[in-house]
Amino acid sequence: DIKIEENVDFSSMFLSDHVLSGLHAAGFLRPSPIQLAAIPLGRCGLDLVVQAKSGTGKTCVFVVAALEMISVTASTTQVLVLAPTREVAVQISQVFSAVGSSMPELRVATFIGGISLAEDKAKLRRCHVAVGTPGRITHLVDLKLLNLDNIRLFVLDEADQMLSGQFTDVVVQLAVALPLNKQMLALSATYTEEVAKVAENLMRSASHVRLGRECPSLLGVGQFVMLMPYHHRQHIIQETKYTQLLAILSTVTFNQCLVFSNSQLRAESICNKLRASGWPASHLTGGQKQRDRLAALEALCSYKCRVLVSTDLAARGLDSEHVNLVVNLDLPPHHATYLHRVGRAGRFGSKGAAITLATEGDEWQTMRAITTLANVKVKLLDEEWPSNLT
Ligand code: ADP
Ligand code: MG
Repeated sequence: DIKIEENVDFSSMFLSDHVLSGLHAAGFLRPSPIQLAAIPLGRCGLDLVVQAKSGTGKTCVFVVAALEMISVTASTTQVLVLAPTREVAVQISQVFSAVGSSMPELRVATFIGGISLAEDKAKLRRCHVAVGTPGRITHLVDLKLLNLDNIRLFVLDEADQMLSGQFTDVVVQLAVALPLNKQMLALSATYTEEVAKVAENLMRSASHVRLGRECPSLLGVGQFVMLMPYHHRQHIIQETKYTQLLAILSTVTFNQCLVFSNSQLRAESICNKLRASGWPASHLTGGQKQRDRLAALEALCSYKCRVLVSTDLAARGLDSEHVNLVVNLDLPPHHATYLHRVGRAGRFGSKGAAITLATEGDEWQTMRAITTLANVKVKLLDEEWPSNLT
C-alpha cells in the first residue's frame, strides 16, 4: 500500500529547514505517496480533496502545509483543523507538536468537549493552530473566544464523515464563517461522490488528489469472517461471540487488538470480562468521562493495554502503530465504516488481520453486502485456522 520512492526524501521537497528538521526528528524521512503528491499542491495554496487509504500518512500532509504557512511572530489563530472525535483531535495536535518541534514559538491547542472552558480560554490567548471537534469549536466561536478572522488554512480530517450526517450543518456553518480567501483541505480514506461534491462546494476551486480509489482496502491486512450460529436470543449470540473472541485472542499472534462492538455498554462489559480473565484490556466509548477516554487512548498508545474494546468512536483516525488485529464483534453500519475499522490495523504499510464475527442470516447478508460495496476480499475462517493470521 505504501510504495516509498527510494530516491525521494523530504529534503528534496523544498521544505523550510525548520519543517524538515521537525520531520526528521519525528522519524519521517521519506514521504509516502500521498505526501509526495499532495504536499506540493497544498503548499501552492490549492484547495484539495485528498483521498488515500487508512494509515498512509494523511495527517502529515496538512501538518506540513500548515507549518509552512504559519507566521509564529503573529499571535493570531491561523489554522483551524476539525476532527470527528476528541481522540483524533488530540492525536492530530501531537503530530503538530512532533513535526513542529523545531519551531519553539509554535502554539498548538486542542479544543474538545469534556474539558473546561476556562482551560480553553487560557490556551486561546496565543494559539496559532486550533485543532478541535466541531461542537466545541462552534461553542468557542459563539462565545467570541475564538476569532476566525485570521484563519488562512481550514482542514477537515475524516472529511466524508464531517460532511455527512450529524456534523454537516455545524461544519458547513463554520466553513462559511471563515475568511473567503482561506485555503481548504479535506482528507479521508473514503468518499461518496456526493460528499466529495459537498466538500468541493465549500472550496473556491478544488483540486483532487485521490490515490487507490479502485482498491480501497489495505493489502497488508488479511480479512476474515467467521460464521456464528444464529440464536433467537441476543444474549446467547453475544455469549457465543465472546467465547469466540477469547479463542481468537489466545490463538492468533498479535501485538495489540481493537475490538469493535456496536454498543457502549457491551464494550464496557466485554472489557471487564477480558480483564477478569487476565487480559490487559481497556475500553473507549462516548459514555465515559473525557478523562477516562484520554486515559484509554494513552494506555493504547503506550502499549499498556493490549486489547481496546470500543465502538465506532474508535473506527476512524486513531493511530496506534502496534495495532495489528481488529475484531468486529458486531457488523459496522456502513461499508465505509468497515474499511475504517479495518484500517486501524496495518498502519503505514504494516501487516495485520481483521476478523468479523457474523451470525447466520441477517449479519451474514450484511457482511456480503459490505464486501461487495467496499470491494474487498474476505476469507471464511472455518473450524481450523492458523495462528499466524497477522
Ligand atoms: P492516515 O491519516 O492516512 O490514516 P496517519 O497520518 O495517521 O495516517 O499516519 C499513519 C502512521 O504513519 C502514523 O503512525 C505516522 O506516524 C506514520 N507516518 C506518516 N508519515 C510517515 C512517513 N513519511 N514516514 C514514516 N512514518 C510515517
Ligand atoms: Mg487520519
